[in-house]
Amino acid sequence: MKALAVTPALRLIGLVDHLEPALRAPDDVLLRVLRVGVCGTDREICAFDYGTPPAGEGYLVLGHESLAEVVSAGPEAGGFAPGQLVVPMVRRPCADPACDACRAGRQDFCVTGGYVERGIKGAHGFMTARVVDAARWLVPVPAELRDVGVLVEPLTIAEKALLEVRRMLDRMPWRGEDLAGLHAVVLGGGPVGLLGAMALRVAGCRVTLVSRQGAADVRAGLLESIGGSYVSSADTPLATLFPPLGRVDLVYEAVGAEAPAFEALAALGPNALFVFTGVPGRRGAPDVDGGVLMRSVVLNNQVVLGTVNAGRDAYEAAVADLGRFMALWPDAVRALITNRFPLAGAREALVTRVGGIKTVVEIGAA
Ligand SMILES: [Zn+2]
Ligand SMILES: [Zn+2]
Repeated sequence: MKALAVTPALRLIGLVDHLEPALRAPDDVLLRVLRVGVCGTDREICAFDYGTPPAGEGYLVLGHESLAEVVSAGPEAGGFAPGQLVVPMVRRPCADPACDACRAGRQDFCVTGGYVERGIKGAHGFMTARVVDAARWLVPVPAELRDVGVLVEPLTIAEKALLEVRRMLDRMPWRGEDLAGLHAVVLGGGPVGLLGAMALRVAGCRVTLVSRQGAADVRAGLLESIGGSYVSSADTPLATLFPPLGRVDLVYEAVGAEAPAFEALAALGPNALFVFTGVPGRRGAPDVDGGVLMRSVVLNNQVVLGTVNAGRDAYEAAVADLGRFMALWPDAVRALITNRFPLAGAREALVTRVGGIKTVVEIGAA
């Protein structure tokens, strides 16, 4: 069975002959992989910035954003019938008895760093025909989401953020946890930003997405179709772009670059929330004075939140929201998947700039 893998010690990326998986534990489920999404994390692994093979092995099978179909299940796998679509969760808990987060089933908040992540750290990913996973890591997906279910995992980033934002909103007793009516600004027009914009729209927010592509970019039409608005930052610094947007209650950062993020944070007003989801790769000196920023955060009662990885609650919210998106804007959701590669050509998708929005690897999609 072929798999796309990295061998960090040899700095190799390519197809390997990978062992056919088998059911071992009574709650194991054999899955046929349909489709795997590619994101910046995969590209960083292919640049050998990180990515760790399983203990004792030389290569790491890539791919963490997957959609798969149940082939067969062990006697204690509980309710997973053949043909059921699932998205496997990515992170698995550390073994440290003192890690309260992992022991509480919330490995997305692991404090030891000893967790394992499929396709990223210490466990093989999904860029291969078949995989086995324990039933407790599988999130069921309805059949009607077959062609877009690969977007569940990247959508969990926004869903975890919104679950936390709702708790933060509760600090303002006159408004409670309801997001409806808030003005949310999304920074970044990649899949994380666009899926975040959709999640904010179904939560009832007014949404403005700011991205560096020009005003004629396909993203402008996408935002319009979901009832949001698109603002190009191509020619306008954020410091001058923000004031005309009026009051901003929430910024959802999905740009992964510090300069626009800090410029946006500095432009926020009273009681605003700012969610960081990106890990900076590109360097750029923010045009922001740290002291001014600190003063602004304090004097405005602002909340600054960082979020990574997702718990089961966010996965389930992502499946539910993706169904809502498809009921409201099926064309816009499908338009997020712009590039499709076969497994044999997937290396290309990982090591070159392919453009577009979301790239997926078609494995057993038929
Ligand atoms: Zn990803
Ligand atoms: Zn842990």
